[in-house]
Amino acid sequence: MKDQKRPLPVPTPETAHFWEGTRQGELRLQRCVHCAHAYFPPRPFCPKCSSAEIETFAASGRASLYSYVISQRSIPGFEAPYAIAVVQLEEGPRMMTNITGCAQTPEALRLDMLLEVAFAKQNEEITLPLFKPSEA
Ligand SMILES: [Zn+2]
Repeated sequence: MKDQKRPLPVPTPETAHFWEGTRQGELRLQRCVHCAHAYFPPRPFCPKCSSAEIETFAASGRASLYSYVISQRSIPGFEAPYAIAVVQLEEGPRMMTNITGCAQTPEALRLDMLLEVAFAKQNEEITLPLFKPSEA
């Protein structure tokens, strides 16, 4: 399985700023200028108040483990067991990701544990934002 690659996202006009950010080591979110709601995934209007006045900003990269499942089945690019996680970003939005830098077990993956973003370059275009246990 090791030589098989994981499927990668394909940037669209709406997500280009996000992938440009991860390439540069930034986790970019969007925020509504009108109501200050920060959100993810990217979209051209605020999901809360529908305002099209939005801005992009670099998130802190800090998060906590909100939920996860451990898959026991290997698929291309993923050697089982591996966790499919939802992390709660410090800024509010939740993001689906993988946890790296620790055992993929219920003992190591504690809900609410503090995490930080770990950028994993896949190719010249795509750098994935994974998360690892916080060192702070
Ligand atoms: Zn809004």
